[in-house]
Parts: sequence; C-alpha cells; structure tokens
Amino acid sequence: PEVITVQELANRMAERGADVIKTLMKMGVMATITQTIDADTAELVVTELGHRPHRVSEADVELGVIGDQDRTEDLRPRPPVVTVMGHVDHGKTSLLDALRHTDVAGREAGGITQHIGAYQVQLPSGSKITFIDTPGHAAFTEMRARGATVTDVVVLVVAADDGVMPQTVEAIRHAKAAKVPIIVAINKCDLPQAKAERVRNELLQHDLVVEDMGGEVLDVEVSAKTGKGLDRLEEAILLQAEILELKANPERPAEGTIVEAKLDKGRGPVGTVLIRRGTLRVGDIVVAGSEWGRVRALVNDRGQAVDEAGPATPVEVLGLTGVPLAGDDLAVVGTEARAREITEYRQRKKREAQAAQQARGSLEQMFSKI
Ligand code: GDP
Ligand code: MG
Repeated sequence: PEVITVQELANRMAERGADVIKTLMKMGVMATITQTIDADTAELVVTELGHRPHRVSEADVELGVIGDQDRTEDLRPRPPVVTVMGHVDHGKTSLLDALRHTDVAGREAGGITQHIGAYQVQLPSGSKITFIDTPGHAAFTEMRARGATVTDVVVLVVAADDGVMPQTVEAIRHAKAAKVPIIVAINKCDLPQAKAERVRNELLQHDLVVEDMGGEVLDVEVSAKTGKGLDRLEEAILLQAEILELKANPERPAEGTIVEAKLDKGRGPVGTVLIRRGTLRVGDIVVAGSEWGRVRALVNDRGQAVDEAGPATPVEVLGLTGVPLAGDDLAVVGTEARAREITEYRQRKKREAQAAQQARGSLEQMFSKI
C-alpha cells in the first residue's frame, strides 16, 4: 500500500526532497516529490540516508494524526507511570490500596479516591507517581499487543512467605520483553515466616539480580498491611524515573492512551486516558480509537471535575460518542469534520478486517471438513 509522499518522508527526516529522490533513483525507483511510496521502500530510503526507521500505523500516516517530534527545549519532566505485577495473592491489590493512601494531596483535599483505572500519588516532596490500577499481566500484555506501552516501571510484588512463583516468572518475562525496568517489592514482610533473603536468591535464578547481590535491580522490603517500606518503595520508583529521564511536552494538543473504558448509565461513554504528551482540555475535539467526541468534562482520580490534564495524569473523559478500547490512542484533532473523517475511516478498516477474518474462518472450516 502507498503510504507516504516523498515530500512528507523528506520532512520527517529533515532531509531535502531532492536527496530523497536521488536515493530512490539509486534504488531504481523513479518518483516525484508529490508521489507516494510504500512503507518498505520508505524504510529503505530512511536507512540509506542514515536514519532509524520508525513505522506508525497506516491510518495514522494517511490521516496525519501522529504529530511531529517535540523539540528538546519544549520537554519537561513528567511523573513515572507504574504497573504492579506479581503472582496471585502476593498482595498486588493490597499494595495498590496502601500506596494510594500515601497520597498527601488527596488527604489535604479530603477527597475519596475513585476507581478509574489509574491514580496519581503526590509525595510529601511534591513528586508525583502514577499507578495503573489494573494489576495483573492481562492488562499489560493486552495493551502491549495493541501497541500501547504506557508503563515506565514495573513493580514486581513477591510475597516473602511464598517466594518466586509461576506468575512471578511470567511477569519478569513480560517486563523484560517490553524492556521496562523492574523494581522488586518483597511484600508481607510483617509475617514471622517472611524470608526476604530467599526471595532475592530465587530472583537471581531468573536473571533478576538485586543490588545486594551485585546487580542493578532495586528491591524494597514492604508490608502492604502495616505500611512498612512504602516510602522507600516510592523513593526507589522516583530514583528509577530519574535514571530514565522521563520527559514530555505539556504545551501541545494532547495525545494519550485509553487505559479503561465503560458505558456509564448516567454519564454515557467514559474513557480513562493517561496523557502521554500535551494538555487535554474541556472543549477539545478528540479521537479515541474509532470513537470521537468533544470533551464535555474531565474527572480526576478523586472524582473532581478538572479543566485540564497534563502528561502522565490519568483522567476520565466524558463526551465520547462511543466506548473506546483499552490500549486505544487518544488524540486531539482540529475540527469535528476531521474527527468524523478519521473515525469513519477506522470503523471502515475495522469492518474490513472483521469481514476478512470471517472469510478466513469459513475457508478454514471448509478445509477442516475435507
Ligand atoms: P493479589 O491477588 O496479588 O491482588 O493479592 P491481594 O492484595 O488480594 O492479597 C492477598 C492476601 O494477602 C489478602 O488476604 C491480603 O490481606 C494479604 N496481604 C496482602 N499484603 C499483605 C501484607 O503485607 N502482609 C500480610 N500479612 N498479608 C498481606
Ligand atoms: Mg488482586
């Protein structure tokens, strides 16, 4: 499929159009500046000119949804986004609850935290951490399968009385595959039968080497029950975030990822979006997957209406025409007409894909009978 014009490709690489045309000619492709070339050819040109190719989805290129790169001077530090993973009953939910109660801003405001799929904690130092409130590997892998990587840091929960178990190993595998750094929270350290040292040894056997053992993985002994070590866990997360130099441009139209979505009886379609870059505001026209809408209201993790939300902030978006999917991209677009055009295109693509799958299904059925 033809996906990008020579001009656009040149712009993206900050190369002259003439140089792109010359490179194409060397490859035996004759093209003018306004002509479109396919993804494979484009990738070859990009490599040939000494750049690193980065493919975005066809629809986004065609529709120009994916914005340009931000300039370094526009980038500002942003909070880290954390996902908690670990074996069943090792205390993921308890830990998420306990961490939520360390939020000083919420305590001051006297607000009750709402479950919206993610929440943000403000530490006494003023630093913030965003937690994805849907523990477990399913959410992580499903989002990743859909091309969404929202997580900066994985907190791996291992119960000190139980040690490394199958889902612990699976979580390590997922985090490593996604190249997301792991911080180990050795939980239930309040129990007399807790054996933190044994956990560190078992982790070593899965190539997770903690600092004490000469490695680089941070580990913290905690108790979700007593609150022990939670401050140190948060410090470890911030330390890891510092190493990662997490930054985003807050001064641009917002882009984010849907982490949870539902149809609310009273409020209609509601999507929780985690802002990646830019600032989302009430009144913005957004596209989320194959749905769109004008933002009617934004609701934070304490159930309060807010006017705007910046990078790494989770916020509920009201005003969508339908329910998007977890992992869908959300982006602000200029006009309603544009939003309709994009979502109609995506819905058509979706129908086509479904039809193709059905056709494949019936073919397979046919063959299975032979
Ligand atoms: P999840 O399946 O990983 O989400 O685990 P849960 O948070 O549901 O916890 C499983 C069980 O362990 C529950 O009965 C919790 O009360 C208990 N639990 C969780 N954290 C701690 C802890 O730090 N100490 C003790 N003693 N029990 C804990
Ligand atoms: Mg749980």
